[in-house]
Amino acid sequence: MSRAALECYPEAHLAPYGRVPSPPRSARLATLITDDCINCGACEPECPNDAIYRGDDIYVIEPALCTECVGFNGREACQAVCPVACCLPDPNRVESEALLLQRALRLHPNDKELRERAAAGTFPSRFKK
Ligand code: SF4
Ligand code: SF4
Repeated sequence: MSRAALECYPEAHLAPYGRVPSPPRSARLATLITDDCINCGACEPECPNDAIYRGDDIYVIEPALCTECVGFNGREACQAVCPVACCLPDPNRVESEALLLQRALRLHPNDKELRERAAAGTFPSRFKK
């Protein structure tokens, strides 16, 4: 967990240690892990923002840390590796590319390449699919 992440989202420091209870299934998440999760753990190391952790029952995404991979990947990395396709966009939480990129920049203040690509408009994004 980066220092910037903690400053932006003080509650997020608990997530990697499994001390945050699983949010209700109706929680508004940028990318949502459904009950079909088989707890394989494949998605967790793929997230560029450390947004995924093991919850009480299944893996969970911390929405304050999810950028839907904008800035890092051309598609959602968790979706790409999930063997049961249970990392899905949450229709109840629609966020713009600009907002997601800003979040990525806040979470990674020392990432020079990200900053440069953001300024040049050449950053990876699922919006460019
Ligand atoms: S969409 Fe990307 S940033 Fe969001 S939880 Fe999945 S891997 Fe992490
Ligand atoms: S990759 Fe899919 S099945 Fe595996 S832990 Fe992540 S969400 Fe669950």
